[in-house]
Amino acid sequence: MSEISTALKEFQKTLPAHVTLVAVSKTKPMSLIQEAYDAGQRIFGENRPQELAEKAASMPEDIQWHMIGHLQSNKVKYIIHEVAMIHSIDSLGLLDEIEKRAKKIDRKIDVLLQVHIAKEEQKHGFDEENLHMISSKKLLERYPHIVVRGLMGMATFTEDEKQIRTEFKSLKNTFDSLKNDRGENFDTLSMGMSGDHKIAIEEGSTMVRIGSSIFGNR
Ligand SMILES: *Cc1c(COP(=O)(O)O)cnc(C)c1O
Repeated sequence: MSEISTALKEFQKTLPAHVTLVAVSKTKPMSLIQEAYDAGQRIFGENRPQELAEKAASMPEDIQWHMIGHLQSNKVKYIIHEVAMIHSIDSLGLLDEIEKRAKKIDRKIDVLLQVHIAKEEQKHGFDEENLHMISSKKLLERYPHIVVRGLMGMATFTEDEKQIRTEFKSLKNTFDSLKNDRGENFDTLSMGMSGDHKIAIEEGSTMVRIGSSIFGNR
């Protein structure tokens, strides 16, 4: 067995059945993605649009590619054909562009609204206070080719577990309060990376984005 498949299987063992694993393959070569694929992994996360497009073009067709990094509107065109889910919606302008492109090719795109939960400036996302307005049914009716499946958030990069837990708890609360009136499709809470997925899962994550624990350090 390859190192990747061993790491993947070890990691899968720690995941409760209701938590989906996005294997974050950014910067990693296709040979390693292929190893993970051969070990059964089908969902991969990338953070650069062109890199996602290139990999998608030459890797097996049943891979689901997730865009997890900041996405500029003018780059949506690179991924619109291939992307299965976009985790990083942080502006209405971005939704406008995705709607326009998805309509053109008659696709419906699953997205998550990124929420700014960290005490760090550089992380993108909507403020939790704005989310009720942004995810209102009325507003989202403007986007018939987009399905808002839930929320994504990144905790502060810190050793302080208490702070990480507080941030995830807060995101889970926001998720639950929106879920009440957003219905069945609103089922995905993407939180947790290699360093903090245990806490994220304890606090209600349904999807973790794991890079280095599977593929090694970047
Ligand atoms: C790189 C990245 C990850 C994975 O990070 P690891 O620490 O390697 O698990 C998760 N989410 C986002 C948004 C990323 O950019």
